[in-house]
Amino acid sequence: MIKDNTQTPGLIVFEGVDGAGKGVQSRALHEAMLAAEYPVILTREPGGSVSAEAIRKLIVEGDTERWDDISELLLIYAARRSHLQETILPNLEQGTWVISDRFADSSRAFQGFAGGLGLDLVEQVHEIVVGQFKPLLTLVLDIDPVLSLKRAEQRGGSEDRFEQKGLAYQQKVREGFLHIAQASPETHTVIDANQSIETVQATIKAAVQQRLGLNL
Ligand code: ADP
Ligand code: MG
Repeated sequence: MIKDNTQTPGLIVFEGVDGAGKGVQSRALHEAMLAAEYPVILTREPGGSVSAEAIRKLIVEGDTERWDDISELLLIYAARRSHLQETILPNLEQGTWVISDRFADSSRAFQGFAGGLGLDLVEQVHEIVVGQFKPLLTLVLDIDPVLSLKRAEQRGGSEDRFEQKGLAYQQKVREGFLHIAQASPETHTVIDANQSIETVQATIKAAVQQRLGLNL
């Protein structure tokens, strides 16, 4: 059954530093929306299409110095364009909600704010690749990077190129996300992610219900 809802399906994005809980919480929201019988898919960046997943490996694995900031940004935006064209836009056109673990605010916070490219340059590339398309709601999972780096370390795996950039870098990324959220309160909400998985999940559910009018 597809719900009769006044809100046209859009893109819901999870943002935040590495280890903030985006993976866990995006899966939980996806399950909650499926349980409430909303048509919805879960996707992620970098990645979310066959070609973009191939680019992902080049971005998240390997030596921290393997790309300079510009190269990193261009790789990410090449992946993002494929993700948009192959996955996000076709699903939205069919009336399916899309939840993404990361989107363009990550480029603003990582490459623009923390990486030192500056927000203006990221916005120029963004305009060329993405144009006017915007997520309906962005949930910024805000956490002390001391805690999130511990979580990311415990999780393990080889996708640690950004975690390896260290605490000061992650702190700048956090500031970047808070700056972006404060500048766009109509589309962004900051979630306290220092709490237990269950508490954060409940906060997110309430925010999605209140901001998008969904019945979860
Ligand atoms: P991200 O996708 O933001 O990098 P993850 O969802 O992969 O973060 O979570 C990183 C690690 O921390 C995982 O092992 C996850 O189970 C754990 N974790 C996530 N949220 C919490 C939380 N609120 N409390 C404790 N551990 C958590
Ligand atoms: Mg993750």
